[in-house]
Amino acid sequence: MKIICIGRNYLNHVKELGNDLPDEPLFFLKPDTSIQPKGHPFFIPHFSEDIHYETELVVRINKTGKHIKERFAHKYYSQIGLGIDFTARDIQQECKQKGLPWEKAKGFDGSAQISKSFIEKSELTLDNIPFSLEKNGEQVQKGNSKNMLFNFDKIISYISQFYTMKIGDLIYTGTPEGVGKVYPGDILKGYIGEKEMFKVVIK
Ligand code: ZN
Repeated sequence: MKIICIGRNYLNHVKELGNDLPDEPLFFLKPDTSIQPKGHPFFIPHFSEDIHYETELVVRINKTGKHIKERFAHKYYSQIGLGIDFTARDIQQECKQKGLPWEKAKGFDGSAQISKSFIEKSELTLDNIPFSLEKNGEQVQKGNSKNMLFNFDKIISYISQFYTMKIGDLIYTGTPEGVGKVYPGDILKGYIGEKEMFKVVIK
């Protein structure tokens, strides 16, 4: 399986990092080794002084396909989860400045936090999914799928022009504003609506 992440998919987050607005989805990959084993703490890696959380809705692909038309994209997923795209912001900044790929800053072990369970698409209104992140009991990120620049179907259609989508592939669909640094001892809890999707302890 592969993990595809969308960057710059929420206007206010694009602004907070001072980036340009994309005219097509920007994406990058994480290796499967980046998936944080369920229930494990997140260990801040030694090579970064500035690890950020980015809370994101995650689509799980359940059908193989390539060159998927936008109007058929809904047939390729049935569940939505929630995750954190942990990012070494200091390294990413360095990569951006040098025009280098981001994988060093984005694909390290444990960088893909994923919810214990996924929610059936039929239980959600896809263009109005509220989600949030609490850090030590305080809400630090609040997003809604209605604010995505590219919705799930557009993302799948676009990516599938380049990559074959396979069963089990995960797509992290971008973070809203409010990203920030984690410190040892922090407890992060992610929610879709009122439902707790994950809890992770930072070490
Ligand atoms: Zn992200």
